[in-house]
Amino acid sequence: MNRYLFTPGPVPVPSAFASMDEREMISHREEVFFELMELIQSKLRSLLKTEGPVIIFPSSGTGALEALVNNFITAEDRVLSVSCGQFGERFREIAGRTEAEIIPLDIEPGRAIEAGSVANAVVKDPGISVVLLTHNETSTGVLNPLKTVIEAIPDDGPLVLVDAVSSLGSTPCFPEDLGIDGFASCSQKGLMTPPGLGLVWLSDRGWDLLESKKERKPCYYFDLKLHRKYLEKERPQNPFTPPVSLLKTLNRSLGFILDNGLENWFASRIRFAASFIEGTSKMGMAPFVRDSEVRSPGVSAVIFDGYAESVRKNLAEMGVVVGGGQGRMKNSILRFAHYADTAWPDLALLLGSVYGSLDLTGYHPDTDFIRVAWKRWNGGEF
Ligand SMILES: *Cc1c(COP(=O)(O)O)cnc(C)c1O
Repeated sequence: MNRYLFTPGPVPVPSAFASMDEREMISHREEVFFELMELIQSKLRSLLKTEGPVIIFPSSGTGALEALVNNFITAEDRVLSVSCGQFGERFREIAGRTEAEIIPLDIEPGRAIEAGSVANAVVKDPGISVVLLTHNETSTGVLNPLKTVIEAIPDDGPLVLVDAVSSLGSTPCFPEDLGIDGFASCSQKGLMTPPGLGLVWLSDRGWDLLESKKERKPCYYFDLKLHRKYLEKERPQNPFTPPVSLLKTLNRSLGFILDNGLENWFASRIRFAASFIEGTSKMGMAPFVRDSEVRSPGVSAVIFDGYAESVRKNLAEMGVVVGGGQGRMKNSILRFAHYADTAWPDLALLLGSVYGSLDLTGYHPDTDFIRVAWKRWNGGEF
């Protein structure tokens, strides 16, 4: 039986990106590798609309978050940790391990971070040196309005570090425009590459701060300055053996996104998300994020209160794998990821499977779901 992955990471890697040449090893100290690295860096500059380098090392998203934290945060820092879900909490926990003082700011799950409350917290406490934010909160399906949130923080104020693990690739994430000082991301979500690559980008201010920090970093493998030094050698490379196979796939997936045209690609994710929500709403299942303005284009959370797990089990038996609710949302929501290259056939398959899974639980949804989803997909035309 075919299996279809709609989990919020990893996502299916389009077969055109993963070819046999991933198995052919190249040395990370030879010309072909330097060329690959140059291509990747140049494509990432286009994706991010920035000039700065992107540090890439072997890890998942959590490792990239830890790298960001360990390079910047020490026990002397006061950290405003803004969380609107599980991943905001994880970022907080990682920062907490440095013994910095953590000032929590919690937003109700399903809602987005508000500029006003972040600005208030920063103004009230001038000792805050770092703010932690999440771009796309994968546990609830919220895309935070980072631009307005960061604009409300004074320019010369605290350093702004962002979890962009599930936003990069699926939605505009232009860090300079957003005012980010540092973000962490990964390969297996919006970048449609197998798990295993962590990505970190820093602003000029972020790099300057690292240069001026005197205390020794507790990390060597994740020392961002060391990584940058190797990237800026005559030919770009890594200080340590990089996962060359994954980098080959990443190069192709970045090419695919850019070839689509960034605007078109990002619009295609919104189109999928909106059409999916039309369909599930028609079946009687409300989206977890009430405000459509902040719904994620990459992952949709839908309420199946009290029977989410049985629907998920039914879906899995059909070969359709989706994400469950995390923490206290287990059994109340399901999460469907569409950061990857998905279109109408995938949507029809997914909605049809959700219909069947609900039917098996004894609830018989309105069959018009497919018509309304198609209508949204097709721009309102029949
Ligand atoms: C997936 C995810 C993480 C964790 O990433 P791993 O690759 O599983 O370590 C962190 N933050 C967000 C927002 C995520 O979606």
